[in-house]
Amino acid sequence: MIDAHVHADTRPYEDFEKMAVAGIETAVTCAHDPLRMSVSDVVFDHWNRILNNDIKRAAENGLKLYAALGIHPRSISEDFERALEKLPSFLENDSVVAIGEIGLETASESEKNIFKEQLQLAETLKMKAIVHTPRSNKKEITWITTSIIEENIDPKMVVIDHVDCTIVNDVIDVGAMLGLTVQPKKMTPDEAVSILDEYGFNKFYLDSDMSSSPSDPLSVPKTVHRIKLAGFNEKDIRKVSNDNAAKFFEL
Ligand SMILES: [Zn+2]
Repeated sequence: MIDAHVHADTRPYEDFEKMAVAGIETAVTCAHDPLRMSVSDVVFDHWNRILNNDIKRAAENGLKLYAALGIHPRSISEDFERALEKLPSFLENDSVVAIGEIGLETASESEKNIFKEQLQLAETLKMKAIVHTPRSNKKEITWITTSIIEENIDPKMVVIDHVDCTIVNDVIDVGAMLGLTVQPKKMTPDEAVSILDEYGFNKFYLDSDMSSSPSDPLSVPKTVHRIKLAGFNEKDIRKVSNDNAAKFFEL
């Protein structure tokens, strides 16, 4: 199994063992806002920690960790231009499979501009992009997010993440991969099953978004368990829990 969106830097060493024991072989850890990202040096320390520390901590527990690096909408530093300038050199690291997570939180002008610049960078570098959708004003901000995606990058290069029942209808035909984030207070395993039942298994992959917010490192295997109990076949289960993410990120 693959957990396609985690924040490994916020989790204890033991979580990686739990994930490996439950059958998760691979995960993608995304850059975010673990601190007040006041200046770009804090952003670089965060990216370096992911590349130099978290990948190793996971590997020691049998979990292959890949990285997505970028400027999260909640981590726009005063001197964000410097972070944007240095981002391409960080993306050259062999463990990096995407720019992310990027996107909009409140849809301010600066968020929109930095989001556009990173999508254009992904388009130029032919890299995938992991795009966040927020908890507040989710529907409205997702509309703005999808229109910015459509104007700046081939949607096939993008995953729109944290898709739930409230926005699935708005993003199902965008042409992007869709991330179903199963996380306490966000979406239950059974809600994910009902979305898959209605929309099919081809456009989605599962993730936990495990972070310092209420989280479950076993979200993906627990959701797989619920899908099995609901009677879906092995092939479809493999698609959402492994194959779609592996193909998207070329793992
Ligand atoms: Zn996240």
